Amino acid sequence: MTENDYLYTVSNLASDIQYISGVGPKRAALIKAELGVATMGELLRIYPYRYIDRSRFYRISEIAGEEAYVQIKARVVSRTMYGPSGSIIPPGDKKLQYAVKRLSVIVEDNSGQMEMVFFKGIKWNYAKLVPDSVFVFFGKPSLFNGKLNMVHPEVDAPLPEGSDLQSGLTGVYPSTEKLINGGVTGKVMCKLQSAALALCLPEIRETLPEYILTENALCGLQYAIRNIHFPADQYALQKATRRLKFEELFFLQLSLLKQKFIRSHGNPGLTMPKVGAAFNSLYESLPFQLTGAQKRVIREIFEDMRSGHQMNRLLQGDVGSGKTMVAVLSALLAVDNGYQACIMAPTEVLAQQHFANISRYLQRTGVSCALLTGSTSQKERRVIHAGLQDGSLGIIVGTHALIEDNVTFKALGLAVIDEQHRFGVDQRAKLWSKGPLIGGDALQNRFAPHVLVMTATPIPRTLAMTVYGDLDVSVIDELPPGRKPVKTVLISDAKKAAVYKFMAKQIALGRQVFVVYPLIFESEKMDLNNLQIGYEEILKRFPEPEYKVAIVHGQQSSDVKAFNMDAFVSGRAQILVSTTVIEVGVDVPNASVMVIESAQRFGLSQLHQLRGRVGRGADESFCVLVHDFKTSKEARERLELMCRTTDGFEIAEEDMRMRGPGDLEGTAQSGLPVSLNIASLAKDGLVLGEARAYATRVLEADPALEEPRNALLLKELRKDKYNIKDYSRIS
Ligand code: ADP
Ligand code: MG
Repeated sequence: MTENDYLYTVSNLASDIQYISGVGPKRAALIKAELGVATMGELLRIYPYRYIDRSRFYRISEIAGEEAYVQIKARVVSRTMYGPSGSIIPPGDKKLQYAVKRLSVIVEDNSGQMEMVFFKGIKWNYAKLVPDSVFVFFGKPSLFNGKLNMVHPEVDAPLPEGSDLQSGLTGVYPSTEKLINGGVTGKVMCKLQSAALALCLPEIRETLPEYILTENALCGLQYAIRNIHFPADQYALQKATRRLKFEELFFLQLSLLKQKFIRSHGNPGLTMPKVGAAFNSLYESLPFQLTGAQKRVIREIFEDMRSGHQMNRLLQGDVGSGKTMVAVLSALLAVDNGYQACIMAPTEVLAQQHFANISRYLQRTGVSCALLTGSTSQKERRVIHAGLQDGSLGIIVGTHALIEDNVTFKALGLAVIDEQHRFGVDQRAKLWSKGPLIGGDALQNRFAPHVLVMTATPIPRTLAMTVYGDLDVSVIDELPPGRKPVKTVLISDAKKAAVYKFMAKQIALGRQVFVVYPLIFESEKMDLNNLQIGYEEILKRFPEPEYKVAIVHGQQSSDVKAFNMDAFVSGRAQILVSTTVIEVGVDVPNASVMVIESAQRFGLSQLHQLRGRVGRGADESFCVLVHDFKTSKEARERLELMCRTTDGFEIAEEDMRMRGPGDLEGTAQSGLPVSLNIASLAKDGLVLGEARAYATRVLEADPALEEPRNALLLKELRKDKYNIKDYSRIS
């Protein structure tokens, strides 16, 4: 049968799930709404997220009460129905049956006794669980008042002697309350999967070419799908899991890397081979030695810029690792080669700060530099626009104002984007259109400027490989020498007085203090109230004229905000009470204390960012994490990690492990290019590394996937889900 014939035969894989026996239109609609699957093929791609081992029986004496699920075989000793406040209701008393609240069944094996509890199905279970009969009970044990029990266990008659064990591993599928109320319980889901499998298994076509299966020791897709749902044993489950995870990550990486390969083979880049006067004059007059990491990264960038291919590089480096210097030196490379560079920051404050620093660095180089933001006056703006157009302006620093339509460059060669996640995708696309025209090109195509994206949000390695799968990544993993790590302590808000005392001591030493309140949503009234109350409390403790306290939050007008911010930056105010607006940027080297209120409400990466605001000067600096009584045990553990380490990558990895990749700071907007079904970026770093390395090999051998043996890959990549936004063109 050829593929075309196949189209005319009825495909079960593509059939609506309502045709599975036991489903029907009503349940089908429910499953569609809750799980988002319409066809049998899609249903089969909903995998169990864990398995219950029903291949053994526990002895009651073995159970500690903390196990996930256990199965026991036990004899019923007694059964009792209880009414309100523990009164016993005799089974024969017809009048009182309505008052029954709970059925308690005591069971025993030869190792001990335990209680089975039912709040529902009482009549039915009472009738079934006759004393002296033996059943298999399956469920989650717990300790109640020091006694072992199981609430609503599954109850089955034991299998005949000899075939004693229930079938081994049982999958547990993702579910929702609506599904269960609609009758699609775990058991029913297993049955549906089994039925779908029976209908569809022979139709499932391999998605990976034979040679890839062999070289990576992967099992076939049919075997994998069958065993992911109904594992023959642990070993089969492992093989199935590995195959499906590899497949998922491999195609994701393949699609990302393919774009990168096409770009580096297809798009011409601006060639910048020269290290010239401007670069050297700054390099030789630096007030400090570059760190080894800074030097390495600059070399990596220069290699890209001279290669003739367009650079798309992500530069990761912790707060204070010296990314600005790398940006400036890269910009000078562009200038030395006859091009212009722009450096974009996400906020006005940051752009101003960058501009101040950068113009200082540029003084000796003779390269002209300007600042363009939303508040640049019309008059200045005209001058700047003209300078960019005629090329007299070498470097421009600014905000989104830089990418407005009326800004044109003579020859934009490099765009540096700081804190990229605050930039929208569309805005980045605009940048692309500002490169120089390709000479002699009748279609007026443009060279894309080299792009360097900088972020201080350490992104876990696996996530970077995925979200930025088609970007090259450089990491500054070394802080300039002499930085003392910020001392971090965790303290309960009941001990706030001690915190105030500490703040006063630091202020007496001439230092400044940040106090940050969570304001997850700027509009949340309660958060704003907390901030206001905290501010007033601090005003009371630190009264004028001895002290000056500034306050900044999102509800203020930009004038008020700027005024207060300036009071702190200039040193007039010793304390800045604020929401997380200070998270990005704001360089106040004299600030040595960061107090974070309700610290348990922040993500780890965010705490790390905030902490990075202090410790920029040479003084010893401190971060005080204040948590309140609502802090859970897990939240406490997370905060304790902050006290133990200042390594942003370790913190990011841990943050991802605890919260999953979707919620990570700095990635919420860019998001994952596709959603993962079985693999996890937090847990499957190893498989991801393998899949990426292997995808690279495949593409190196056949960049466009034209070889017949790769036809399957090309077919798979055409599917909608791999229609991934081309980050290379937009960042
Ligand atoms: P980032 O943007 O990575 O957070 P910055 O570029 O703002 O960090 O640098 C932080 C501070 O460290 C700046 O004051 C900068 O002048 C200084 N700095 C940068 N590189 C070095 C270095 N190699 N040695 C000493 N100080 C450095
Ligand atoms: Mg910076």
